[in-house]
Amino acid sequence: MKVFKYILLGATITLTTSCGESWLDLEPSTQIQTDSAIQNLSHVEYSLNSIYNVMRNAYYYSGRMTYYGDVTGDDVQANGLTKRTANYYLMSMTRDTGPSTHWSYAYQIIRNCNIILEQIEKLDCDSSDQAQYNDLKGQTLTLRGMALFELTRFFGYPYAKDKGASLGVPIVKEVVDVNYKPGRNTVAECYAAFIKDFEEAVPLMSEKFNKGKVNKWVAMGYLSRAYLYMERNEEALTTAKAVIAGAESNKYSLWTNEEYPTVWGSDSDASKPGEVLFEMVNLTTESPGKESMGHLCWSSGYSDMILTSSFYQFLTEDPNDVRAQLFLIKSKKAYINKYQPQPGENALDANIPVMRLSEIYLIAAEAASKLGNRNDDAVKYLNAIVQRANPTNSVDGETITLDRVLAERRKELFGEGHRMFDAIRNHRRIERADVSVSAVSSTKHYELLPESKSFDWNYFRVVLPIPKAEMNANPNLVQNPQYGS
Ligand code: CA
Repeated sequence: MKVFKYILLGATITLTTSCGESWLDLEPSTQIQTDSAIQNLSHVEYSLNSIYNVMRNAYYYSGRMTYYGDVTGDDVQANGLTKRTANYYLMSMTRDTGPSTHWSYAYQIIRNCNIILEQIEKLDCDSSDQAQYNDLKGQTLTLRGMALFELTRFFGYPYAKDKGASLGVPIVKEVVDVNYKPGRNTVAECYAAFIKDFEEAVPLMSEKFNKGKVNKWVAMGYLSRAYLYMERNEEALTTAKAVIAGAESNKYSLWTNEEYPTVWGSDSDASKPGEVLFEMVNLTTESPGKESMGHLCWSSGYSDMILTSSFYQFLTEDPNDVRAQLFLIKSKKAYINKYQPQPGENALDANIPVMRLSEIYLIAAEAASKLGNRNDDAVKYLNAIVQRANPTNSVDGETITLDRVLAERRKELFGEGHRMFDAIRNHRRIERADVSVSAVSSTKHYELLPESKSFDWNYFRVVLPIPKAEMNANPNLVQNPQYGS
């Protein structure tokens, strides 16, 4: 059988991801055969840019992929039942109503990474190009690993629940035939696959700031996150420490207390990278549109999501915590104010941080707290975050528990897509209950299924159903438990 090789061409081409379309359905109109498409490193870079463009889509990191982990948790909720975030918030999905884009976009990214990785091996590379060749290959490996990481946490149970024995998603590491119908690999096999991608990428990649692109510190950051999710705590701590030291020797640094409230709307550059290791750089000329985080969080935009009353109370327990300035109150509801547009832009064009140095400090602190004999490290890395938030606070002299770190993670990373995953991977419960706070007295949970109000990793809806179109197109796929076959 003839194997067709396609690649997306250019920035203006968008992926087709309508309901009912399988990731296996190739669309010749948006793709060209690659045998002639990638002949030099400029072509590789061009193809990689098309992948970054896919990632900036509001159905990927600029929107859905980010808010999913927040509105399925207990810190952020939908601001109404007709809002775009409501389906995730309600956690009432069935095998017939699950979203298709989490799957289809990630596999489009993986497929295009596979094409680049296959073609780049065929290039004759001048020795003067070797560093660029290596960096581009490393970026491609990192993006492929990130897509599989996302798929695994959306569709597979936490690694820690059963040491990865349950089903993850199909691992696709080669350019495959249109008729390829893979079965699901285990979660453990998925972890091994994306860790291999990150490990292979790290020594290839540039250490320098590269705006809107992944570099060595992002690949290592994902490696530390993956180790943390697997509870390989020694490696998570060692890797996180290396990211912090390496990034900071390349001009990255934690935002200061003073700049924290407004720095989200600044535009980083190589002279001052700040603390964002990887972000979606959205521009007015290349806007992700009104489904983006900036417009969804804006009270005068789609006003889609707000802080829960319980999280508002928790976040403001220390009124001098600088992070309590990262929301705006309107009509007794608290709107997230992290997605501030860059100068001259509209709300919908706000950049989307995907990985911040603050998270790496919190990974180091969490891993150290779990190791038991590394309290000095736990104190050191947690204190950097605690004292930045309020310089009069400190955890010096405390024995740092996992729950202490998780509490700090909630305050630091709310609205950035982490909460539900952080709770369930640590076998903690999500509790969605109202408290009475006058400042946000109009904030109430909507009617939730009883099992969606309070749950842990045993709730079947902590993973999404495999999209219906995929199930119909591929008899080798097994649906997630309790969603029905
Ligand atoms: Ca922007």
